[in-house]
Amino acid sequence: MGATTTRDGKRVAVGTAAAFDKLAAAFKKRFGLTLHVRSGLRTWQEQYDLWVKYKYHGGTYALHPSAAQAYHYEGNPHGGKSLDVYDSGSDNGVTVAGNARSNWLRANASKYGFTARGYQFGEPWHIELASNPYATPSFSGGQIMADAKDIWYFPVHRDGKEVRAIQELADIKTIALDLQLRLATPVTRGGKKVSVRQDNADTNTFAREILAEVKNISKRLAAVEKKLK
Ligand SMILES: [Zn+2]
Repeated sequence: MGATTTRDGKRVAVGTAAAFDKLAAAFKKRFGLTLHVRSGLRTWQEQYDLWVKYKYHGGTYALHPSAAQAYHYEGNPHGGKSLDVYDSGSDNGVTVAGNARSNWLRANASKYGFTARGYQFGEPWHIELASNPYATPSFSGGQIMADAKDIWYFPVHRDGKEVRAIQELADIKTIALDLQLRLATPVTRGGKKVSVRQDNADTNTFAREILAEVKNISKRLAAVEKKLK
């Protein structure tokens, strides 16, 4: 478990909250409506109480905390990543499959580091962060992202194509978070799992791979920074 904060009074992992803010800003820009968090992290007791309510008192569907699919329970691998969202529209359209706002969420969630995972099990309002929800990006991409608020929509170039600055920065941030995750994940060399530290000491392979990616990110960041000046 790691650091948490709150959105709409609900407990949310820091990385998930930061990504949600970007998603909500884009949603507001597109529809003029506010995206809200209905459910974030749940303690064992909270999940258990919901299950009891469902099982014995006619409450809405909820799983026992020990169930593998109890995605909001903080002890579940999906715990810090899972959000249930709703919106300020009178029809709460973002929660309804096939609604224009739900379609937008499904199509655009990945730009903000989320997957519209709930579509796999009939809950279109359920989204999950794709990377480590507890990673605090120390990478300057995060800071540029924060500073660049009013110029998010400036065009920058990627592989000869025009993309919006917000898109490029979101992608860079996702890559940076992924790199942090990979540093903590064992790698497979010659069929064996070894820690990044060990592998690095042995062969330098991982270091070279990471270095190549960091160089690539730096180049892309520099291009965005130049544009934003
Ligand atoms: Zn959910």
